[in-house]
Amino acid sequence: MSWFKRENVGSEKMAKPENGERRVKTEGLWLKCEGCREIIWKKDLEANYNVCPKCGANSRIEALTRLELLLDGAYKQFDADLASSDPLEFVDQRPYSERLATTQEATSLADALISAEGTIEGRKVQMCAMEPKFIGGSMGSVMGEKITRAIERSMAQKMPLVIISASGGARMQEGAISLMQMAKISAALMRLDEARIPYISVLTDPTTGGVTASLAMLGDLNIAEPGALIGFAGPRVIEQTIRQKLPEGFQRSEFLLKHGMLDAVVARLELKTYISKALTFFCGPVQ
Ligand SMILES: [Zn+2]
Repeated sequence: MSWFKRENVGSEKMAKPENGERRVKTEGLWLKCEGCREIIWKKDLEANYNVCPKCGANSRIEALTRLELLLDGAYKQFDADLASSDPLEFVDQRPYSERLATTQEATSLADALISAEGTIEGRKVQMCAMEPKFIGGSMGSVMGEKITRAIERSMAQKMPLVIISASGGARMQEGAISLMQMAKISAALMRLDEARIPYISVLTDPTTGGVTASLAMLGDLNIAEPGALIGFAGPRVIEQTIRQKLPEGFQRSEFLLKHGMLDAVVARLELKTYISKALTFFCGPVQ
């Protein structure tokens, strides 16, 4: 199947890189790097896991690509069909159920998180990766449940846990139910801590709101990709509240590292080696 899809991508008319339609899969061959503003061949960028070959800026990647980058090869997925039941029957500009259905079709995922078990340089781990394209990677009941189950599997099998965050925060369409996930996950992480099983939190662009306020900052190690937006409330809200201008680079990885909120900033292509070394430090060499 993918043979034909690739053919189509290649034969597409060249789209203007600035047309903003970056979500469509067959949109064109060139992209503009947000770091150095250079035009890059899309395939070059993709082959390099969306790290700009010219300036090293990280643009967002899908959850599946993330797992491919960090895990050794084949992995097992859990709860792939778990989907939200729209408990509030919420309607904003359009019904939440409809928004879910279109997003599910566009991303081929049931919700904004992939939960997997695989190996990192030979060591078995539980790994969860958020999908920023799925309603902003927002955390609702499904993400909360999937992460909690992953934590429970980590405990049952004494396996380290790695969670890669890429999320705008709690999913407002699920109201208080999505907020409760913060408490649920945090409680499960506390039990994981008591069981002395390491949890590494990887914060990527963007990690904000309820995800920052719970699981993303609760790792035994909290590491981030360069230049990632990490925060709770947005800069405008903070400026209006404290009535002060915020400093340069506020809420970016490097700023947070400098102010003691993170343990390390690690380049995307070095993440796997870094995590593997950290796990060896925590658990000893692979048995
Ligand atoms: Zn660049």
